[in-house]
Amino acid sequence: MPGAVGPRLGATFVSSAAAYLQAVFLLAGAWELARRRALTPRAAVLSVCAAVTLAGVTTLAFVTLAGEQAEAMRHFLRVGCRALLAGLAYVVAAHGAWPPADEDAARGRRVLSGAFTLFGIQQLLAFFLAARSLAGAPAPGYAPFLGMADLVVQWVMGTAMILCLLEQEQSTALRAARQAEHLAYHDSLTGLPNRRLLLDRLSVALQHARRAGERVGVLFLDLDRFKVINDSLGHGAGDLLLQMVAGRVREAVRDGDTLARIGGDEFTLLLPGLKHGEGAGRVVQKLKEAMAQPFMVDGHELFVTASSGVALYPEDGEDAETLIRHADIAMYRAKEAGRDGFKFFAPAMNERARERLALEGALRKALALEQFRIHYQPLCEAATGRVTGVEALVRWMHPVRGLLPPAEFMELAESTGQVTLLGRWVLARACAQVRAWQRGGHPALTVSVNLSARQFADAGLVEEVRRVLEQEGLDPACLELEITESLAMHNVAATEATLRELKRLGVAISIDDFGTGYSSFGYLQRFPIDTLKIDREFVRDVDRDAGSADIAAAMIAMAHKLGLSVVAEGVERPEQLAFLREQSCDRAQGFLIGHPLPAHDVERLLRTAWAEPAVPPA
Ligand code: C2E
Ligand code: MG
Ligand code: MG
Repeated sequence: MPGAVGPRLGATFVSSAAAYLQAVFLLAGAWELARRRALTPRAAVLSVCAAVTLAGVTTLAFVTLAGEQAEAMRHFLRVGCRALLAGLAYVVAAHGAWPPADEDAARGRRVLSGAFTLFGIQQLLAFFLAARSLAGAPAPGYAPFLGMADLVVQWVMGTAMILCLLEQEQSTALRAARQAEHLAYHDSLTGLPNRRLLLDRLSVALQHARRAGERVGVLFLDLDRFKVINDSLGHGAGDLLLQMVAGRVREAVRDGDTLARIGGDEFTLLLPGLKHGEGAGRVVQKLKEAMAQPFMVDGHELFVTASSGVALYPEDGEDAETLIRHADIAMYRAKEAGRDGFKFFAPAMNERARERLALEGALRKALALEQFRIHYQPLCEAATGRVTGVEALVRWMHPVRGLLPPAEFMELAESTGQVTLLGRWVLARACAQVRAWQRGGHPALTVSVNLSARQFADAGLVEEVRRVLEQEGLDPACLELEITESLAMHNVAATEATLRELKRLGVAISIDDFGTGYSSFGYLQRFPIDTLKIDREFVRDVDRDAGSADIAAAMIAMAHKLGLSVVAEGVERPEQLAFLREQSCDRAQGFLIGHPLPAHDVERLLRTAWAEPAVPPA
């Protein structure tokens, strides 16, 4: 066909454009592979334009060429130039396809890169042959076989690409699996091993220690007052602090020691290969030093201490679970003994923990088994000594340990939530009992009932009080509810709202153990309360120590100024009562007036005390 006919020009343009586009795509792909990022749309459009322009130039040359050399020149333009560009592109692409050193699935990319290189060389050879024929040299004898080689190399390239894709898929799946495994065995906040991994490593360490006759230490570490930081600065700051603590502890211990986070602010340190117990003590010392510097969190300088407990294999346990539990118990004892403490586990601690657990179990059943009793302690009018009311104080008739005072079980009941049910029971029982005494001839007798924090926060409290009053037919004015200062100050707004609702029922409110918490007079004035019960600590020495006397006198005067009546707690000696009378204290409660007694003993006291006062009047 003559050089410049339409179909030939069209075919030339299309095939040239396709060839140049192939080279451009190849270069772009190699660039993306090497940079691990995609080409910008602008660069992609520019590349395509360049390829099309080159094709246009080639086609134009077809039109303008004439003469003898025209055919050879056309061949060179159509095949030679493209081969040169493709050859260079393949060599560059081979470089881009070569895998980086850290790639694990690299076989496919290596083969691909090799095939690219071969194909590039072959293309450069094609360019060389085209240039030679332009110079008039005949085609060499091996030229016909080049097509064959071309086919083989292209086949290798295709296979290598499939291999690459498969490998990529496999390595992605592997990476995901590895990540999932990391998540399953690590704490996401600090990146430390979690409880599972700790147990795993601990059992390995124990096996080793058994063979080598060594010790293994398990150290339980719990931050002191972490909850306060979390509550006051927010969870973000709490998280940051945990990460910083984890970092410092990690740096303070040896590489072979495993530090794990197994709960909120609880860390466990596994110390394998200990020669003796003192080694663990030294680690604790190092941890203390590591924590001594303040932590800077969100612009706050935080001084953090931790309590820790250590259990040792083989003395304190043979298996992982036991060792961790014992270290935990030891840590609790350290905490009980004051902050920033450290304790080795001792079997007696286990005894105590077991007791506590047994007590908790028994406590759950105590209400259903009717093991609770109420003792009533009289309160008298200070001036006359006449008994005007009683305070209901709960006791637990433990089947084995006998009668337990509230100090032995109230905290436990509060932490298990049992206290709400127990409190309801006390309220109903005490109201029924006092109503019975009122009917029996003491019509104005009052009853004081203590409310626990949980009970006070219970949404059903007001309704419960209303129901009990109605059911027993008790005059609301005869019921006095006692809350402690710290309970009242915990959530001032909620306290005020609940107190107002209770006041609407007509019951009286007292602040118990006044002086032991931190209340502000502002709130005392704001809360609708009737009575302050001055804690016995402030009553103890009023007759012996001038300073104590001044404080008690000031407290009474202040309460009266605020329009509150005053009960002095813990009155044990007549001299104390005499002082209180001088200060116009309204009521008194204490062993001098009467001990807390079971109901039938109170009846006897009431009978006599009504006729003649429990203590002689002033
Ligand atoms: P509280 O309300 O301050 O009760 C007074 C406590 O002081 C009683 O101890 C009582 O036996 C003791 N006490 C009374 N007079 C004297 C005295 O002259 N000298 C001395 N040294 N102590 C005296 P108890 O019965 O062991 O109660 C302790 C605390 O347990 C109570 O303190 C109260 O906060 C709590 N509690 C008792 N019963 C209940 C209850 O039913 N519900 C709730 N939530 N708490 C209760
Ligand atoms: Mg009380
Ligand atoms: Mg009290």
